[in-house]
Amino acid sequence: MKPAQFEYFAPTTVDETVAMLAERVEDVKLLAGGQSLVPLMNMRLARPAAVVDINGVGELAYVRERDDGGFRIGALTRQSAVERSDPLRKRAPLLHEAVGYIGHIAIRTRGTIGGSIAHADPAGELPAVITALDGELVVRGPVGERTVRADEFFLTYLTTQLGPDELLTEVRLPPWPDGAGWSFMEVSRRHGDYALVGVACVVQVDGGVCSDARLVFTGVGGTPYVSVVGQDAARGERPDDALYRRVQEAVSSDPGLEPEADIHASALYRKEVAGVMAKRALARAFERATALSG
Ligand SMILES: Cc1cc2nc3c(=O)[nH]c(=O)nc-3n(C[C@H](O)[C@H](O)[C@H](O)COP(=O)(O)OP(=O)(O)OC[C@H]3O[C@@H](n4cnc5c(N)ncnc54)[C@H](O)[C@@H]3O)c2cc1C
Repeated sequence: MKPAQFEYFAPTTVDETVAMLAERVEDVKLLAGGQSLVPLMNMRLARPAAVVDINGVGELAYVRERDDGGFRIGALTRQSAVERSDPLRKRAPLLHEAVGYIGHIAIRTRGTIGGSIAHADPAGELPAVITALDGELVVRGPVGERTVRADEFFLTYLTTQLGPDELLTEVRLPPWPDGAGWSFMEVSRRHGDYALVGVACVVQVDGGVCSDARLVFTGVGGTPYVSVVGQDAARGERPDDALYRRVQEAVSSDPGLEPEADIHASALYRKEVAGVMAKRALARAFERATALSG
C-alpha cells in the first residue's frame, strides 16, 4: 500500500517547523516516528497535502532533569530512549514501566513520546501515564508558546488541544513524590497489542495508611479516565486485601467509567477488567511503597 501524493518538508529547527505549519495549516501533518501516521497514510485514511518531517529537528530530542527533581522531555525523544534512560527509571518509574508496554521494540525505536501524546490513541499508555503524573505539555504555535496540563490536553478520541498549526515541543513531569509506589498494568489480546484496558497507579503511604492514590485508566473511553471514585475508596485506608476488593468494586461500578464495546471487548468486560486492574495495580504499588519505606 502506498500513500497518496504529498509535498515533503524537512525543517531542522523548531522555528522553521512552526513557520512551515503556519504556511500550510489547511492540510499539513507533522511526521515524527511515523508509527501511527505512516500506516494511516498508507491505508489512505489520512491524505495530507503536505508532510513536515521533524526527525531532523535535533533540539526536540532530550531528557533533562530539572533542579527540583522533575523532568523535561523533548517531544522527539524516542520511546526506546525513555525506556533506556536511567534517571527516568529511577525518578519517573511509572513512565519507565509503562513505555515497555508500547507495541514492540521496533515500534519504540522509531515512535516518539510526543507522537504518542499528540496522536492521543484512546488505548495508548502514555496519555494515561502523563495524566497520572500531573504532567504538562508545552506547545509552540505562530503566536508563541503555551503550557497545558495533561488532564486538560486530551479532548476525545484522537483529539487534543493541539491546533493544526501547533507543535508539541516538550513533556514536563513534576518531581516524583518521595517514597511513592507505582504500577502500570494492562490486559491486551497479545503481547504488544494496544491495551483493552490499562491502568496507571501511584500511591503514597503515611504511617501505614494510604495518604494519596492516583488511578488513571486507558482503553475505557475517548481520553484517559481518572477514577475519582476508585481513588477516594483507597485514600485514608490501610492497604490490605479487603481494601483492594473495595477499590475493585468501586471502579467496576464507577458511573463515570463508560467504556464502549468494540470488536475486541464488550463494555461490561472492560468495566470488570478495569476493577481487577485497579485491585492488582494498587496492591503492587503499595508493595513497592512499603518496600521503599521499610
Ligand atoms: C504494530 C504497532 C503497535 C503499536 N502498539 C502501540 C501500543 O501498544 N501503545 C501505543 O501507545 N502505541 C502503539 N503504537 C503506536 C506508536 O506508539 C506510535 O509511535 C505513536 O502512536 C505515535 O508516535 P510517532 O512518533 O510514531 O508519531 P507519528 O506516527 O509520526 O505521528 C502521529 C500523529 O501525531 C502527530 N505528531 C507527532 N509528533 C508531533 C508533535 N511533536 N507535535 C504535534 N503533533 C505531532 C502527527 O502529525 C500525527 O498526527 C503501535 C504502532 C504500531 C505500528
